[in-house]
Amino acid sequence: MILKTPTSRCFLSGCANWPLFLVLLCCRPTIVNANDDGWFETVSFAVPEGAPWTSLTRTRERYTTEANDGHEANFWLIQGSQAAVLIDTGFGLENLAQHLMDGGYWNASTTPLVVVASHEHFDHAAGMSVFPAATSSDVVLAAGSGDANAITESITARTADILVQEMAFYPDEYFSEAPPSVTDFAARLSDFQTQANIDRELVEGDTIELGDGAVLTIMALPGHTPGSIALYDGPSQTIFTGDTLYAGYLIDNAVDSNVDDYATSMDRLAALSVKQAYPGHGEALSGEQYLAVIDCYNGGEEDCSYVVEEIPGTVKPLSRSSSSSSTSESVPPDGNITTTAPTTTTDGGDSDTVPSGSSASSR
Ligand SMILES: [Zn+2]
Repeated sequence: MILKTPTSRCFLSGCANWPLFLVLLCCRPTIVNANDDGWFETVSFAVPEGAPWTSLTRTRERYTTEANDGHEANFWLIQGSQAAVLIDTGFGLENLAQHLMDGGYWNASTTPLVVVASHEHFDHAAGMSVFPAATSSDVVLAAGSGDANAITESITARTADILVQEMAFYPDEYFSEAPPSVTDFAARLSDFQTQANIDRELVEGDTIELGDGAVLTIMALPGHTPGSIALYDGPSQTIFTGDTLYAGYLIDNAVDSNVDDYATSMDRLAALSVKQAYPGHGEALSGEQYLAVIDCYNGGEEDCSYVVEEIPGTVKPLSRSSSSSSTSESVPPDGNITTTAPTTTTDGGDSDTVPSGSSASSR
């Protein structure tokens, strides 16, 4: 959701006002050193009925301005009996891998992990860079084929360079609530590690196997970006939608967006049986709320936030922990995991069908 207009004016139009840029660099606010204060917040969710997972958690970055309006990006960690999947990783300003390990949410020495970018945008994919260096376990970095190059080659060259400039111009649009322990904003940005080598490009119908029959199927859903993907679990009719669908401002006019593709992707989502949806931003949604967001978008409305207020069924977390170092009320994932490598298979080609296990439903 990072390219939310009109606030992303610099990203869309270029950054030409260098004198102002330098002034802002001198006067910029500082932001938290998450190692001291807890940049991340992780909560546990109930495993959906029928899903053969051992746990489900959501992590967010607490000091983004997206957090101020309740639409900070969500990073979903799904644990199976033999492997885990992490969907999205955030800005990468702090070490998400370390947070998940310190909090007991992910055991890097025993649990192979597939780190999936739902799409290329900075607030979802930039944090992928910390995973290979921070862990000793098998880690596979994966992204939709349409966005993989942007993450591998261009987050630094294009997205990051531009957005780092923009964050320096408009820091309040990205970060907030300067906490007691702070570090220099420019220094943090100068150390920004954003490039990640994507090991596996995902296409429609690919699957990620987590053990004991837990299989997440990739849906290619271009529109928000060319390589936007969703992950679907057929037995529980659960979907992780990235930025293609959430209860908020849906963005089909970012730099790499395509409105026609977005409409087609929404039609596919509308034809899918969904009991709960875990989106890239905002609240986890019931099946009814999910369909209402699709109707909202198809009706030409910009802001679909009202769905969670007007339709009951929002999927709430079980418990809350404030940081990697704090006392957690959440239930860490089961450590009884084999070292079997996660399995990704490529068997779907460019089929336009819904994943197996799903069926058509009325809208
Ligand atoms: Zn996005």
